Amino acid sequence: DTPLTMGPQLNGKIPSTSSYPEIIQKARDAFQSGRTRDVTFREQQLKKLLRLYEENTDAMIAALAADLRKSKQESVLFEIEFVKNDIKHSLLNLREWVKPEKPPKGIVNLMDEVLIHHDPFGVVLIMGAWNYPLQLALVPVAGAIAAGNCVILKPSEVSEACANLMAELIPKYLDQDCYHVVQGGIPETTELLKERFDYIFYTGSTNVGKIVRAAANEHLTPVTLELGGKSPVYIDDTVNMDIAVRRILWGKCINAGQTCIAPDYILCSKDVEQEIVSRAKQVFREWYGDNWKNSPDFCRIVTDRHFRRLVGFLNNGKIAVGGDTDESERYISPTILVDVKPSDPIMQEEIFGPILPVVNVESPEEAIKFIVNREKPLAFYIFSDNSQRRKLLIENVSSGGICCNDTLMHVGVDTLPFGGVGNSGMGAYHGVYSYNTFTHKKSCLVKNYNPLGEKIASSRYPPYSDKKTTF
Ligand code: NAD
Repeated sequence: DTPLTMGPQLNGKIPSTSSYPEIIQKARDAFQSGRTRDVTFREQQLKKLLRLYEENTDAMIAALAADLRKSKQESVLFEIEFVKNDIKHSLLNLREWVKPEKPPKGIVNLMDEVLIHHDPFGVVLIMGAWNYPLQLALVPVAGAIAAGNCVILKPSEVSEACANLMAELIPKYLDQDCYHVVQGGIPETTELLKERFDYIFYTGSTNVGKIVRAAANEHLTPVTLELGGKSPVYIDDTVNMDIAVRRILWGKCINAGQTCIAPDYILCSKDVEQEIVSRAKQVFREWYGDNWKNSPDFCRIVTDRHFRRLVGFLNNGKIAVGGDTDESERYISPTILVDVKPSDPIMQEEIFGPILPVVNVESPEEAIKFIVNREKPLAFYIFSDNSQRRKLLIENVSSGGICCNDTLMHVGVDTLPFGGVGNSGMGAYHGVYSYNTFTHKKSCLVKNYNPLGEKIASSRYPPYSDKKTTF
C-alpha cells in the first residue's frame, strides 16, 4: 500500500501534528480579520484557483496518471473541466448569491426589515477521497471560498501524487493565511479531527464518515458527509438495449469502477441479463480492443489492498464477461457476474471496482423491495422507456439522486444538488448548493422607533391581562 506522506507546506516546512493548532489559529486569525467577507476578495481567490488549474493542467494529468493510471480524457473531463466549470459558475453568480434574502413579511413586521443574512461559518475542514482526488477536494474548497470561509484541506493520502501537487500549488496561488493543506493518513487525520472547526466537509466511506461525525460531535460542529454505498441499476425490456448497455458499462468502467456513483449492480430479468451479457462483450471489444489490458483508456485499482478485496469477489456467482486480473499492475478487467445471490459477499458492500453483478428480478415491484430493504444508495439508475414504471420507481426508492436512462450524468447538471441520504451521506453541494452548504443563514430583524409601531406593540409589556391575550 501507498506509504503515508507529509508534503511541502507552510513555506517549505513540513507540519507535524503538533503544528495543527498553529495552522488552524492562523486561518482563524485570517477569518477574524474580515478579509474573506469581502466578495471581491473571494472572487480574486476563485480566479486564482482557476489560474492554478489553467497553468498546471499537465502536472495534474501526470499526477492522476501516477495515482490511478487515469487516462488524459477522464482527467480532463472529470478532474479538470468539471472543476473549472463549477468555479466559473460560482464567479458568474456569486454577486447574486451573496445578497441578503428578503423573505415575505407578516402584517406585524410591515414596517420592519426582515432579512436572511449570509454568514460564512469560519474555518472549515475539507477531507477528500482518492478516487477523484482533485475534484473531490477542490470543488468543496471553491464552495467554501465562495461563501467566505477559511479552509484547511486534508487530501487523501492514498492518491499521493495529487495530494503532493495540491500541497505544493495551493500556497503558491491562494492566500497563505486563509487556505492551508495538511497532509497525512489515519494517525494525522485522527489528530486533526480533535481540533475545533466551524464546519467539516468529508468525502469518503460510510465507516469513516461515522468517525468524522463522532469527532465533530465533540465540538457540535456541523458536517456534510459525502459517502458511498451500492448504487443499483434497474433495467427492463422497453429500452433501446444498444444505447442502454453502453451507458451502464461506461458508468461502471470510468476510473475502473472506482466512482462513488458507479452502477454497483444490475437488477433485471434473465432475458434482459442475456442481452446485456452478449452486447457487453462486443462493446468492450470496441472500446478496449482485443487485449483490454493494453488499452490506455482503462484505469488500475488504486492499491494492493483494494485489488485483493476486489479479486475476492470474482468467485461470487459465475463470470459471464471478463474476470481477468494481473496483480503486478493491479489490473482487473471489466467483468460481469451472473447467478449472483443476494447473500453473496459482493452484494454486502460497495464494490468500487470494475465488477458488475446481475441479480434477477421479475418486476419493478420486486426491484423496489430489493433496494428499500438495504441501505439508501447514493444514486439509483432506472432504465425504462415506460414513464409510469419510472414514476413508480422514482417515488418508491429513496436515494441521494436518480438518473433515468443514463448513468453518472446527473452529477454534471450544475443546477442540481449532489449528495446522499441515510448511509450514503448528508448534505449536498455543487454550484449554489456548495455556496449554501458553507453559508450560515442568519435571521435578521431590523425594527425602528416609529411611535405608531411602538403603540401597537406595547401590549406585550406588563402588566399582563387576559384582555391582552384575547384575539
Ligand atoms: P476513506 O473513508 O477510507 O478515506 C477518506 C479520508 O478519510 C482520507 O482522507 C483518509 O485519510 C481519512 N481516513 C481514513 N480512515 C480514517 C480513520 N480511521 N480515521 C480518520 N480518518 C480516516 O474513503 P476512500 O477509500 O478514500 O473513498 C472510498 C469511499 O468514498 C467509497 O465508499 C466511495 O463511495 C466514497 N466516495 C463518496 C463520494 C461522494 O461524493 N459521495 C465521492 C468519492 C468517494
